[in-house]
Amino acid sequence: RRAAFAALRDLPPETRDGHRLTLMVNAGLRDDVAALDLTGADGIGLFRTEFQFLVSATLPQRERQQRLYREVLEAAGERPVIFRTVDIGGDKALPYLQHDGADEENPAMGWRALRLSLERDGLMKAQARALIEAAAGRTLNVMFPMVSEPWEFDEARALFDAQRTFLAGRGKRLPIEIRYGAMLEVPALAEQLDLLLPKLDFLSIGTNDLTQFLFAADRANPKLAERYDWLSPSILRFIRRIVGPAREAGVNLAVCGEMGGRPLEAMALMGLGIDRLSITPAAVGPVKAMVRSLNYGALKDFMDELLVRPPRDLRAPLTAWAEQQGV
Ligand code: PEP
Ligand code: MG
Repeated sequence: RRAAFAALRDLPPETRDGHRLTLMVNAGLRDDVAALDLTGADGIGLFRTEFQFLVSATLPQRERQQRLYREVLEAAGERPVIFRTVDIGGDKALPYLQHDGADEENPAMGWRALRLSLERDGLMKAQARALIEAAAGRTLNVMFPMVSEPWEFDEARALFDAQRTFLAGRGKRLPIEIRYGAMLEVPALAEQLDLLLPKLDFLSIGTNDLTQFLFAADRANPKLAERYDWLSPSILRFIRRIVGPAREAGVNLAVCGEMGGRPLEAMALMGLGIDRLSITPAAVGPVKAMVRSLNYGALKDFMDELLVRPPRDLRAPLTAWAEQQGV
């Protein structure tokens, strides 16, 4: 099977009836970029910049951050890379960064990600400068994690714009364009989509955190792991609600959580109208094989029907449909 997946490397993730999925990979370290050539992926849909912070004994200085970002961009070449600003704090506490994460009762819902970045803005300013300088002469894609309300996106973007202006004033070579996106992983943000979408170049649904917040179920608690399924009517209907408004606003919509790396889940997402996925590199072959055996029109009809009066377990009917279709 591995050889069969490798043979798919240079073939597009396109359905039998000609619907093209954009298939990207998640990455976080310099060496992960090799996955682009190994898998034939369309780009990096989620570069988790906090990895560099988590593996360092001391706070990575701006120059070190910049070096990593430039190496990643150079290795990616023409393919886009979406850099997510640091998602640290809470359960991803850093010993060298003074904060009270360890004492929080609910660190996953605590002082983390953009919440921390907007307060500790020295950290975010350094990261903004590192990213902007690293992307000189190219397009820079920046994504903010754990956006809960539109004003948080505005503040984060303003911070980047200010750094851009600062660097321009010092005669630095700038990116051709900076594109800004948000992660949708806090359910509250979905209630203000109409206000958020006009501000965005792209939006990416983080189903790992979204699931835990939507179900109020800790994603790291093994006692709950079996209880809430990614293929639940609540998750699928929630995601479906985002698709139409994003398309109307002309905002690229992706899913970058682990869910998209499982072929059956990826199929369900496509059936909801998601046509961009960013997944773990090892999943590219299996997901591409699924996509290439799919009839997209038939899938859309099946999903629409299935979500009208969904049974408790969607895994069984989705599996049966896939088998019957030869997926
Ligand atoms: C997510 O929450 O789905 C996501 C992609 O981000 P992370 O797993 O890094 O929290
Ligand atoms: Mg997340």
